[in-house]
Amino acid sequence: MVKQTIQIFARVKPPVRKHQQGIYSIDEDEKLIPSLEIILPRDLADGFVNNKRESYKFKFQRIFDQDANQETIFENIAKPVAGSVLAGYNGTIFAYGQTGSGKTFTITGGAERYSDRGIIPRTLSYIFEQLQKDSSKIYTTHISYLEIYNECGYDLLDPRHEASSLEDLPKVTILEDPDQNIHLKNLTLHQATTEEEALNLLFLGDTNRMIAETPMNQASTRSHCIFTIHLSSKEPGSATVRHAKLHLVDLAGSERVAKTGVGGHLLTEAKYINLSLHYLEQVIIALSEKHRSHIPYRNSMMTSVLRDSLGGNCMTTMIATLSLEKRNLDESISTCRFAQRVALIKNEAVLNEEIDPRLVIKRLQKEIQELKDELAMVTGEQRTEALTEAELLQLEKLITSFLEDQDPESRLEVGADMRKVHHCFHHLKKLLNDKKILENNTVSSESKDQDCQEPLKEEYRKLRDILKQRDNEINILVNMLKKEKKKAQEALHLAGMDRREFRHSQSPPFPLGNPEEGQRMRLSSAPSQAQDFSILGKRSSMLHEKTGMREEMSLGRQEAFEIFKRDHADSVTIDDNKQILKQRFSEAKALGESINEARSKIGHLKEEITQQHIQQVALGISENMAVPLMPDQQEEKLRSQLEEEKRRYKTMFTRLKALKVEIEHLQLLMDKAKVKLQKEFEVWWAEEATNLQVNSPAVNSLDHTKLFLQTSDSQHERSQLLSNKSDVNARKILPSPCPSPHSQKQSSTSTPLEDSIPKRPVSSIPLTGDSQTDSDILAFIKARQSILQKQYLQLLCSLFPKSAVSSAQPSTNRKGLSDVLVTR
Ligand code: ADP
Ligand code: MG
Repeated sequence: MVKQTIQIFARVKPPVRKHQQGIYSIDEDEKLIPSLEIILPRDLADGFVNNKRESYKFKFQRIFDQDANQETIFENIAKPVAGSVLAGYNGTIFAYGQTGSGKTFTITGGAERYSDRGIIPRTLSYIFEQLQKDSSKIYTTHISYLEIYNECGYDLLDPRHEASSLEDLPKVTILEDPDQNIHLKNLTLHQATTEEEALNLLFLGDTNRMIAETPMNQASTRSHCIFTIHLSSKEPGSATVRHAKLHLVDLAGSERVAKTGVGGHLLTEAKYINLSLHYLEQVIIALSEKHRSHIPYRNSMMTSVLRDSLGGNCMTTMIATLSLEKRNLDESISTCRFAQRVALIKNEAVLNEEIDPRLVIKRLQKEIQELKDELAMVTGEQRTEALTEAELLQLEKLITSFLEDQDPESRLEVGADMRKVHHCFHHLKKLLNDKKILENNTVSSESKDQDCQEPLKEEYRKLRDILKQRDNEINILVNMLKKEKKKAQEALHLAGMDRREFRHSQSPPFPLGNPEEGQRMRLSSAPSQAQDFSILGKRSSMLHEKTGMREEMSLGRQEAFEIFKRDHADSVTIDDNKQILKQRFSEAKALGESINEARSKIGHLKEEITQQHIQQVALGISENMAVPLMPDQQEEKLRSQLEEEKRRYKTMFTRLKALKVEIEHLQLLMDKAKVKLQKEFEVWWAEEATNLQVNSPAVNSLDHTKLFLQTSDSQHERSQLLSNKSDVNARKILPSPCPSPHSQKQSSTSTPLEDSIPKRPVSSIPLTGDSQTDSDILAFIKARQSILQKQYLQLLCSLFPKSAVSSAQPSTNRKGLSDVLVTR
């Protein structure tokens, strides 16, 4: 049992803007416990708390300042916890802090760079690396990912399609057994045999989390996410299984609603926005007070799920994430205070060992059979009928293999049947006698030889020795050949598998025309890696399948999507990552080729060494010389070359493996960014469709065309096209062009911009699905865009001298334009 208080760490996030100096200081004297001092500026101290304290000091195990990178955080905080999980103890790491302080960045990682990957991907990588190294145990790993929003649990690893809101995900509920153990009903555990599989699950969960978020639920700030790695291990042959769980928890934002007292100055009460954080605090308070018998775990789902992590069988670590800017100081102080209380909680972690009943049953069955056999022998219960021919033959085979088996521990198992036991003895006796006779014959013939052919004796012995030596050599060579043949067959088999994988991996590419997909396939030039890389293609499609990405988009929508993508802030990140990916791919490809070369070189060298050997043997036979025991110089040289080549191969292979992980991570980041883009596009599209509706004063098709003709020349063609299409649609969907009061009001107060935008009857535009309507919305977007561009230019003209404007390029960025319009 390991008794330990909850470890607390602080991490300070780099500021968005340059920092005000002197807001905090870190004291990290090596002999003392590090402390963080938060200094309140006078103006804030006045209104903040009664006692007008100006400085607050908090102790932490360690404090990571702004410049601490993700690697440092992992090495110092997560690695020790992962180590104890590998040893069989439960572990929890939770991040606590206000929204925007870096909880998700710390736990999961940033969405832009590979080096920004957080504790979860790094821990997965570490755990799988350790599992691979340890062959003394059999490990199984499962992953689960739970989101708790508003006291409801949701399974983020839902394998079904089309989760577009939290409610679409399976609801997870808590069950408590008579021993008060918590079980989570509906939370799926997915086995992950490799780091890649586990990473896929993480990204699947994160994508589901993102898709399910709406402005209404603000899931990312108001929900708790618990990523759990379930690890079981057992030694081969043993029935004892160890189970350990590692919870990696991204809590909801800890910000509070400040209730101000009379005069709005005194802070009388501060409440969490999130109720379950309030209950978490209650549990922490109860645990940190001595002699409290009742701990209110059951008040909320989160505290129930994390019951073991808080004052139970677990090694727990808290990371207080702090955004130490002036306006966040009160929240930062709350976070630190919370951490100080958490640090008082003592946990008792025990090894979670369990006897696997299936293994016990197997062992007991064997024991029963042995006892039965023994009993049958002791009681003398014997069968009398004679053994059949087949049984006798079977027994003789058993005896032969028993005699040939070099293992001194091997046993001749014939069961408790005395007939068989007797037959075995008879057969062995016969074999022994036969051998004796044979030996006698040889001896007598040898003695005869001795008598009559004394001069030839020496020659004969020599020849016999050479023959024996040759036999041995031939045996060695045959074995070598067999091994080579087996290897070749395996390689062929693998190559066949690779090709099959390869074909599978060409399943649906990314719907938005992902250029890397092609790259993924081309990587197969390194055959042994082809299988690994092909998984990437499969994963991508799995992610999209599972997150319900729609592949079919009408042409109009596709074009609008291109416009949207071009102007989106994330497109820079996506493009950057694309570039990095391209580089990594070409590096991987080059490495793959070099690895192939090294491999074939190794093959050639081996072949040469074998040839050399055969030649020596052949020479030995023809010249009747014994083969030298030591390899000659030539062979020595070949062997050192071989070693060198093997070393090179290993180095390149290790690099390729690391590259592969990076490529996978980057691809998952990009896939996620694209899903986000798609999601934001859908919202924008719907908004544009609504705008189109709102801007329609329900004019009839004639007015409609007229209005179009009033628009600018550049729009004219498009407008014409649109008006024709709209006519068709209007007739098709709603023959009666009745004006709605709402749209009339709109038109009466419409701005010049709205006036010049194509209009059509309100109810004739369904929001989705109709590709003709889609092209209407696209035309609407384009028309608006071109008007906005013009207005932007006009605005520039009025603001700057002509020369400057003429060189200025009109921006198509929506945000830029709307900013301009707002300032207007
Ligand atoms: P939270 O999950 O606490 O609401 P996030 O992790 O989403 O906060 O962080 C908010 C923003 O700050 C993100 O854009 C994130 O990339 C950035 N960020 C947070 N911590 C760091 C850090 N240590 N270094 C760089 N950027 C960070
Ligand atoms: Mg977050």
